[in-house]
Amino acid sequence: MNFEFIILGSSSGRPTADLYQSAYVLNIHNNYILLDCGEGAQMQLFKYGIPIMKINHILITHLHADHFIGLIGLLNTYNLLKRDKPIHIYAPKGLEEIIQVQFKHAGKVASYPIYFHELNMNQNTKVIETPTLEVYSFPVNHRIECNGFLFREKAHLRNINPELVSELKHLPNEVYQILKRSKDYEFENRIYEYEKYTLPPPKSRTFAFVTDTLKDNLYIKHIQGVDMLFHEATFTDEHEELTTETFHSTARQAAEIGQEAQVKKLIIGHFSTRYKDFETHLKEAREIFPNTFLAEQGKRFEIQTAQV
Ligand SMILES: [Zn+2]
Ligand SMILES: [Zn+2]
Repeated sequence: MNFEFIILGSSSGRPTADLYQSAYVLNIHNNYILLDCGEGAQMQLFKYGIPIMKINHILITHLHADHFIGLIGLLNTYNLLKRDKPIHIYAPKGLEEIIQVQFKHAGKVASYPIYFHELNMNQNTKVIETPTLEVYSFPVNHRIECNGFLFREKAHLRNINPELVSELKHLPNEVYQILKRSKDYEFENRIYEYEKYTLPPPKSRTFAFVTDTLKDNLYIKHIQGVDMLFHEATFTDEHEELTTETFHSTARQAAEIGQEAQVKKLIIGHFSTRYKDFETHLKEAREIFPNTFLAEQGKRFEIQTAQV
């Protein structure tokens, strides 16, 4: 089943002619979640063929403009396309006011319900729960209140062992669901043990998203051991002194977080526009954490459980 992280834009601060601001998509079992919505995010959604009507949840980390300014455009496009399905927006306090002011002065009412969910910016909180997924928010350390997010698949069902399935064919159909749920099945005085007839399920996968932040131990416990971490890496070592005044991280610091949290794979992004390319970011991060990759626009990363 799909669990994929897609990069729409990963530029910090301002866009350039080629680089878009923060915007990412998670495709989880063909449900799409938008993570941040910088300027032009909707053009990137079109460009990379993301079905925009399948986005039902939008998560905004914080209210610096480069992380949400594309939202007004996207919500307006939904109106023009006569969306009727609700959309859920999870963001710090204040975003609802910003969006509603725009609708008010444009004399418009959305054609679809918009539900704003105010994030708790002080503690680890479950924000979304579906039959297959849980999403948590947790505070990071930025100039204004800012949250990271953790995505955790719920446990999968066990799989019927294909080599023994013929022994179940004479039984009522319910047997499959019962065995898959780790329960034995009794029929005509015979017990069919789930441990015999099923194989263990695939391991649940986890993904964490952390931008914008100073490197800080504060959030390590919330991302411990995840299969994939996205962490901001605004600067290279050369500009490390800027991290404390801007509350951002270097690529090396992102890699140190990845190492300390024992994550399996690291994606770095939110690059400052002062750099022509990001090879130095990659090199410096890989010195600490070799399994690091750049958040390049259009790139898709499948979240997989680590091989044991
Ligand atoms: Zn930013
Ligand atoms: Zn910021």
